[in-house]
Amino acid sequence: MNLPRGLVWLRSDLRLHDNTALYQASTQCQQLAAIFIACPETWQSQDEGEPLVAFRMACLRELQTECAARNLPLYFIEVPSFAQVPEVLQQVAERLKIDAIYANTEYPLNEQRRDAAVRDLLKQDGVQVQFFSDRTLLPPGAVRTGSGEPYKVFTPFKRALIQLCADSAIKTLPKPRRFAGAKDGAHWPKWFSLSGGQRLNQKIPTQLRGYNLDKISTAGLIKGWQAGEKAAQQQLKKFTGKIPAYRAERDFPALDSTSCLSPYLNSGAISIRQCIAAALSLNEGHWLGGDEGVACWISELIWREFYTHLLADFPRLSKGKPFKLETEQIPWSYNREQFERWTQGETGVPIVDAAMRQLRETAWMHNRLRMIVASFLSKNMLIDWRWGERYFMRNLIDADFASNNGGWQWTASTGTDAAPYFRVFNPYSQSQRFDPKGEFIRKYVPELSGLSDRTIHDPAPTAGYPPVICDVAAGRKRAIEVFASLK
Ligand code: FAD
Repeated sequence: MNLPRGLVWLRSDLRLHDNTALYQASTQCQQLAAIFIACPETWQSQDEGEPLVAFRMACLRELQTECAARNLPLYFIEVPSFAQVPEVLQQVAERLKIDAIYANTEYPLNEQRRDAAVRDLLKQDGVQVQFFSDRTLLPPGAVRTGSGEPYKVFTPFKRALIQLCADSAIKTLPKPRRFAGAKDGAHWPKWFSLSGGQRLNQKIPTQLRGYNLDKISTAGLIKGWQAGEKAAQQQLKKFTGKIPAYRAERDFPALDSTSCLSPYLNSGAISIRQCIAAALSLNEGHWLGGDEGVACWISELIWREFYTHLLADFPRLSKGKPFKLETEQIPWSYNREQFERWTQGETGVPIVDAAMRQLRETAWMHNRLRMIVASFLSKNMLIDWRWGERYFMRNLIDADFASNNGGWQWTASTGTDAAPYFRVFNPYSQSQRFDPKGEFIRKYVPELSGLSDRTIHDPAPTAGYPPVICDVAAGRKRAIEVFASLK
């Protein structure tokens, strides 16, 4: 421990265990504090919605309690945007006599630019700013083809990543030690003001400018989701009990067969290493083979890794651009009324409507359904996939720019290793195959609950249920023709 005072800057890594920046800071500094900087204006401009932000704040509150038990004060400050962050950290470092700031890297472009500005400014004051790779198993850039290029196809990426990771065991880091408290001479102020008048204190607010977080809690949207690191570990434990059935059951939305860990992974209440380590311990250390449920789950976690690496390698993905630039020529529809009906779950296609209502009611959607509704919007309705991407960002509790952008571009066939353009999901056959008894549809579209298992997927015009929004077959044909004509 060679530095007197350090500051851990928490962002999307809201946990004590296996937090690389926090652990490194705790080993290098005699005294340590943490800070979280809320930037609601920037978050809104990035379409980070109320469910995501409410969950993030709830995780932060849980973490603060855990930090307090280790004499680690967690300061909170709200400023409008990322633009203010360098100066805030400069003033905080000066006021608290901080020698070094520690943070885990975030990969979207705005976050990268913010972090570069922080590093440049603090350097002038002699404060070290150290960033650590933590969000992924390997840092972006570490998995390269033989010619040193980023992988653009998932399967070879997965193979290369496993080869690199399998050489050394996946290690998770312990939580930081207990620090000296006020009684032992470590004095940290409870609060103080910065020169701009903003107040830094140790209270995590329940409201943020521009976000109606109360609405989220009272509407029960995050009711089913317990926030924080302990809840994440419980969820992982619960899931490991049913992981053997994952491969066989993961595509059936009526079954509770997936881990539901995505909100925790994205807020950082659990780490990717903790998930992989748990999976490997169930599979005698094997990444491939062994229990097919475990191997399949590992593969899904690697999709998250793949999309995060792509985001870091291709900044255009952060700028609203498709991966395949030729798809810019597609004459996308911008029909606002049709789009609204899709968001409301009133397309007249039961499985699409059930899925969209699941999102509205729970702030989460099953993976199979995300693909079905994204395909319906971007192919059958030919509406610009970016509208759907933005709607998901604003409404998902697990919204993650890299995975969401990757999922949308995969489905819309604009992305790398995307679904071939001629593969358009047929929502009716998907419904028959993955919700054969219509259980999921009945749950979210109760007006159809009286229909038989056979007719519920494609009902005849029924009172109280909207007619189909578009000609599904003609929409499919049009999408294929449009894509086929791209040069
Ligand atoms: P599980 O099946 O238990 O999988 C475990 C974990 O693996 C997930 O939590 C997630 O971190 C990762 N994972 C699984 N599938 C994928 C995938 N296809 N791509 C990337 N990571 C994956 N995931 C998000 O976390 N945030 C998003 O905003 C998001 N948007 C999506 C949008 C579209 C159009 C599509 C098709 C997929 C999107 N996904 C997104 C991926 C996937 O749907 C969710 O990660 C998954 O449904 C979360 O549920 P789970 O935790 O039970 O997943």
